[in-house]
Amino acid sequence: MAKYVYLFGPGGTDGNAQERNLLGGKGANLAEMCLLGLPVPAGFTITTQCCTEYFRLGGDFPESLAAEVQEALKRTEKTMGMKYGDADNPLLVSSRSGARSSMPGMMETVLNVGLCTKTIPGLVRKSGSERFVYDAYRRLITMYSDVVMEKAEGIEPVEGQGIRQQLEKLLAAVKKSKKYKEDTDLTVDDLKQLCEAYKAKIKEMLGRDFPDDAMEQLSGAIGAVFKSWNGRRAISYRRIEGIPDDWGTAVNVQSMVFGNMGDDSATGVAFSRNPATGEDKFYGEWLINAQGEDVVAGIRTPSPLNEETKNEQNRHLPSLETEWPDLYKELHDIRDKLETHYTDMQDIEFTIQNKKLYMLQCRNGKRTGTAALNMAMDMLSEGLIDEETAVTRVGADQLDELLHPLVDPEAEKKVASVAEGLPAGPGGACGQIVFTSQEAVEAANAGKTVILVREETNPEDVEGMRAAEGILTARGGMTSHAALVARGWGKCCIVGAGELKIDVQAGTMSVGGKTFKKDGYITLNGTKGLVYDGQLAMIDATENPRFQEFMAIVDRFRTMGVRTNADTPEDAKIARQYGAEGIGLFRTEHMFYGKGSEDALFQLRKMILSSTDAERQAAIDDLAPFVKKDIKDTLEAMDGLPVTIRLLDPPLHEFAPGTVEGQKEMAEALDTTVEEIAGRVESLHEVNPMMGHRGVRLGITHPTLTEMQIRAIFEAMKELRAEGKNPKPEIMVPVTCAVGELDVTKKVYDRIKAEVAPSLDVHYGTMIEIPRACLLADKMALTAEFFSFGTNDLTQMGFGFSRDDIGGFLGAYVSQGILEADPFQTIDQAGIGQLIEMAVEKGRAARGNLKVGICGEQGGDPASVEFCFETGLDYVSCSPYRVPIARLAAAQAAIKAKK
Ligand code: PEP
Ligand code: MG
Repeated sequence: MAKYVYLFGPGGTDGNAQERNLLGGKGANLAEMCLLGLPVPAGFTITTQCCTEYFRLGGDFPESLAAEVQEALKRTEKTMGMKYGDADNPLLVSSRSGARSSMPGMMETVLNVGLCTKTIPGLVRKSGSERFVYDAYRRLITMYSDVVMEKAEGIEPVEGQGIRQQLEKLLAAVKKSKKYKEDTDLTVDDLKQLCEAYKAKIKEMLGRDFPDDAMEQLSGAIGAVFKSWNGRRAISYRRIEGIPDDWGTAVNVQSMVFGNMGDDSATGVAFSRNPATGEDKFYGEWLINAQGEDVVAGIRTPSPLNEETKNEQNRHLPSLETEWPDLYKELHDIRDKLETHYTDMQDIEFTIQNKKLYMLQCRNGKRTGTAALNMAMDMLSEGLIDEETAVTRVGADQLDELLHPLVDPEAEKKVASVAEGLPAGPGGACGQIVFTSQEAVEAANAGKTVILVREETNPEDVEGMRAAEGILTARGGMTSHAALVARGWGKCCIVGAGELKIDVQAGTMSVGGKTFKKDGYITLNGTKGLVYDGQLAMIDATENPRFQEFMAIVDRFRTMGVRTNADTPEDAKIARQYGAEGIGLFRTEHMFYGKGSEDALFQLRKMILSSTDAERQAAIDDLAPFVKKDIKDTLEAMDGLPVTIRLLDPPLHEFAPGTVEGQKEMAEALDTTVEEIAGRVESLHEVNPMMGHRGVRLGITHPTLTEMQIRAIFEAMKELRAEGKNPKPEIMVPVTCAVGELDVTKKVYDRIKAEVAPSLDVHYGTMIEIPRACLLADKMALTAEFFSFGTNDLTQMGFGFSRDDIGGFLGAYVSQGILEADPFQTIDQAGIGQLIEMAVEKGRAARGNLKVGICGEQGGDPASVEFCFETGLDYVSCSPYRVPIARLAAAQAAIKAKK
């Protein structure tokens, strides 16, 4: 028969920290603290297994539970020297949830359980304070009716009309009529009358009496905590965090100790080190004569724990260190003991009852990215942890924080956002609104800091995007043009903020009833996707000097390669600084965007719009030197490291001139009329350009275009070699679905190689971004020497979701739990993941040494990096600013696999 109840306390402890799955985080740590000999009020944990059983039985306790609880209660009473439900010497308990992984505030707690007509007089005698007892009773009635009698019963009152709010209204009415300011102004008689009024209200609203029997209260409180596992908040939290439904929660029944028993009692919360900065100083807050909820509720300003961590808000308040030095010392010793034991920063809760210290909770504390890095490096040099552990102590996503300026979280707390979109580019940005690329460039040249607000962006906006501090669009998804470009630059960007109404002509943007004009200030939090009115303070992400040191350790554990997606020599240089080991995707077409691209773009347009083969060939010949220079510069910036150059991919119409001036220019260049050019532009229009005449298809229809590019690569390589450099280009064919496409292109490759540089070796491979290519990967690998998964397109075509049009529906898919996450951000392992696994397996079966990487946006997402590691990929490639994140995620995946 399963054991459902585990005792903890000075009188005996059954569990320990390893039994987290069974006892939940809180229960396991309570047991561990008891084993360490710390002063923990005795109690017992009812297991998560019991919770699962409770639901299996349709909301009934397993038969053996009652006897186990009786026995545990008896032993708890013995340890505490009190008796539950006793008239003379009553013990009160709390009933708290505690799942395997922390779900802060998502489940329920009931305090002061066991207080009833029979036990009240005894507690009054013992505590010597009638006021204290009736205040505790009032709190019990409020919590119990809310948690046990309403929520656990599945009663869903109208918003704001729940029983808790009804009782709070009664309280407010008394305070108002008596002109009291604080709850502490309530007299004993007020409290007694309130408790009676509460009970009457409960009967009226819920049709049942508030239970006056201690055992009935206890079983109600245990059942309610179990039921809160299936409360709406808890369920949606589990969806977001990916916590399985069948884990269940444990229930911790623990003897109450009171921080509100008078001026020799107190309660507090503390961190063994500063969770915001990582500084090795004991940091926390405490309140005299208060219960835990008072510290959190923020009704009174809590006092600082010690002198050295005082700040402007609490400098005038007494610290525990000076007020009660002995107790501070005891707490400080416990802090040291816990850190040494857990070898990590602890978040602790304590209560002081009549000058005696009790520990109520400890757990690994949550921390910012900066703090995580500092603590890991500090603890490493203190010898508390080893290098491998240090690497696991910083979340890969937390690194992002260290690399970008941020909106000051304190400033953000004080205001509500005006709009929300997808967090496409990290960090924060604050500036004046502009609505066109040109305005952005002009304003930036005039020294202004601007936010470029667009319906959506296209390649013509690139200059303005570069000039802007941040980018905000009303449309588009995580792989839309704006998102890709911004993330590539590490620029703050929010896309798909659908509520925005943008009127470029009028120079206005409206949202939620407010209209913003050009030059008005807004602030973006690109990490969260939130838009704010006005200028919020920013914090400078001055690079922590320890960052490099940490990353050097990280690389000692990493086995998978990390490259970057870079299209310019500048990006290549930045990525190298961040530790990229080459370029996994060089998008050739990006040379036609942005500053200095005018001449190349002009030649490209001539090529696109030419009407005869001769005209086209002449344009291609004119284009060749530009392509060669671009490739050569990038190879030079990445000298000695591989550079995967992708042959031209874009739908051609993207580059056709859309304006009359542009068409006029082309008409002159090609010696024809504007009407004729307009007609040619029109004929390039495609219904589904993403699935149209792009990628390898361009080379199939215009082989001389392929020839020109391959020639440019070989020539650039040859020239660099002659200059004593060590260029390592690789040629990658995009958007392939049949080995025939690779064979046709390979013939061109062979011919040019023989002609230009027969002795130079350049790997020849393909993007795998169409499902058919995965299915036929064994065939593709006969010609391709490497694969690079283009998971942007593979996700688009695997799901049938247009990557530029997901804004309208993907949010609903995620919030309704149809999809766990945006598959354009993190690889959909269940579906697209299978295609990848199959392609790797088939590809390597056909070519044992097939090199495999990924260059879709997901290559910088930690969960996707772990998946790539597990699938045996040789490298991931991501935007320059995500390179450190991918390095860390890859090292963590390797460490995890070892274990
Ligand atoms: C991809 O499809 O994943 C990819 C990297 O190519 P692009 O985003 O340029 O289509
Ligand atoms: Mg693609």
